[in-house]
Amino acid sequence: MEDCLFCKIINGDIPSERVYEDEFVYAFKDIDPVAPVHVLIIPKEHIASANDITAENSLVISKVFEAAAIIAKEAGIDANGYRIVNNCGELAGQTVKHLHFHLIGGRDLSWPPG
Ligand code: 5GP
Ligand code: ZN
Repeated sequence: MEDCLFCKIINGDIPSERVYEDEFVYAFKDIDPVAPVHVLIIPKEHIASANDITAENSLVISKVFEAAAIIAKEAGIDANGYRIVNNCGELAGQTVKHLHFHLIGGRDLSWPPG
């Protein structure tokens, strides 16, 4: 996708602080972190939002969660706990139209989210 910010980050056209990468996913530090650990995990394939997950492309979702477990361990937040969040659509506050999962941790997280 030519005009997609996160596709440009995957391609290296826009710099990012990479924390993990494999064949299926790319993970990097959020530019505006809301917690000591705030990593975005994204499929390398352009999928616009959770609404666009199908039987054909859903393998990458398990890869996202495999990556999350690795990243949480490396960040040292696996034992104390963390949150994985996907914002889908306008009311949820999705600002970038490339499916992404926020891995957030390193502090007390309130519930329910705002
Ligand atoms: P959303 O609100 O769509 O769920 O999350 C988008 C996230 O992308 C936000 O947390 C925002 O800080 C992050 N973000 C937006 N632009 C950039 C960027 O250019 N680089 C990085 N690393 N993060 C970004
Ligand atoms: Zn994209």
